[in-house]
Amino acid sequence: MSVHRTKYAAVVCGGGPAGITVLGNLLERKVGPVLWVDDLFEAGRVNKAYREVPSNTKVKLFVDFAEAVSPFQKILKETPSPHAVDYLRGLPQDTGCDLGYAADMCLLLTEGLKKAPGVEARQGRVTDAVLSETNDWVVNVKLSSGETSKAISSRVILCTGSSPTNQQLPVSISDLSPLELDHALSPTLLAKSLPKESTTVAVIGASHSAVLVLINLYNLASTTHPDLKIKWFTRHPLRYAEFMEGWIKRDNTGLKGAAAAWAKENLEPAKFGSSPVSRFIQKIAYEKENETRTYEQELAGCNRYVQAIGYTRDPLPGLKDAAGSDITYNYQPDTGSFKNVDGKQIPGLFGAGIAWPERVTDPEGSVEWAVGFWKFMRYAKRVVPDWN
Ligand SMILES: Cc1cc2nc3c(=O)[nH]c(=O)nc-3n(C[C@H](O)[C@H](O)[C@H](O)COP(=O)(O)OP(=O)(O)OC[C@H]3O[C@@H](n4cnc5c(N)ncnc54)[C@H](O)[C@@H]3O)c2cc1C
Repeated sequence: MSVHRTKYAAVVCGGGPAGITVLGNLLERKVGPVLWVDDLFEAGRVNKAYREVPSNTKVKLFVDFAEAVSPFQKILKETPSPHAVDYLRGLPQDTGCDLGYAADMCLLLTEGLKKAPGVEARQGRVTDAVLSETNDWVVNVKLSSGETSKAISSRVILCTGSSPTNQQLPVSISDLSPLELDHALSPTLLAKSLPKESTTVAVIGASHSAVLVLINLYNLASTTHPDLKIKWFTRHPLRYAEFMEGWIKRDNTGLKGAAAAWAKENLEPAKFGSSPVSRFIQKIAYEKENETRTYEQELAGCNRYVQAIGYTRDPLPGLKDAAGSDITYNYQPDTGSFKNVDGKQIPGLFGAGIAWPERVTDPEGSVEWAVGFWKFMRYAKRVVPDWN
């Protein structure tokens, strides 16, 4: 049954940090009414999966995020103290914190935004959006109640997020089962996922997430799980963010914060042999061309494997044109907009967040995707005024 059919200025699809950022910027620019749709309105993956992860950004950037637009400032003013942003303000500003603090800030902003004038929040999933001949989007939402609802809007903004990449292993090893990256990133869930008996876990990757998983596994092996062994599969040396004059080299791809400090101290070749971690972690360095042979040899005898090899966009709502054909889209990472296969701008379709980040070029010409709360905010402030 269809329960609504109303005209909106924008439909924001997703209630993670990116959806919160975009909504704050739309309201600041008096764009409304806005339909805001999310499965749960529980701040996306930062709250669901990363609460125990140490941040790779400074606390100050979370506070800056919370104060960046007037609709957020109003929410903070109207929320009784002490609230989540007060707790962030009370921490040392120039170091990281557990992402639980940032998640609580997002939950606070979510509650405020749901009640903000000009916002209608609908819990459910945007299933598809059809671009009419008059360039309006007809957006279908499957509500969590099971009902469907329809909305008409001149803009659809995809803040749909990304999840850990899982690739089929090129080898088949009996008794080897996957360990979800989300579980391995949480010390609490990891402890519950692994038995106390002799277990070998393979960690694949040299990313920020891979190092966080190695830290969590090492902490278990050196305390409650002494029979735990770890094999770390890596194809390249660890890469670190470097603080240059006025900019950060490998700002988005290099190790930062607690993970970088731990890796420098324990995993670098000059330190590894004498570090206590080498009692539990065996490093398997290999080249791409030897991958299958290395896996065949080294995964044999492992019980679990966790892939920490990046993040992949979550499935999008179906996007169709007025004739019912699928719209093929190319993301424009300088404007947050999309073009079709003919290079024409798709009217009213935009994206933000980890799935649709800004592309940045550093002073040495290296290109990266700008991912992080403050980067989403900086990008939104620049591009949202042009999302007409
Ligand atoms: C391990 C890790 C550590 C990180 N650490 C930091 C850090 O320290 N500092 C920092 O600034 N950033 C950090 N980030 C980066 C980034 O801030 C987070 O990844 C953030 O969660 C991305 O937010 P998002 O809103 O783009 O996506 P998500 O958090 O994934 O949110 C997407 C939301 O959209 C909803 N959704 C999706 N599709 C639909 C649909 N069709 N209909 C309705 N709702 C939908 C989902 O349910 C979800 O709620 C980290 C990322 C990772 C992976």
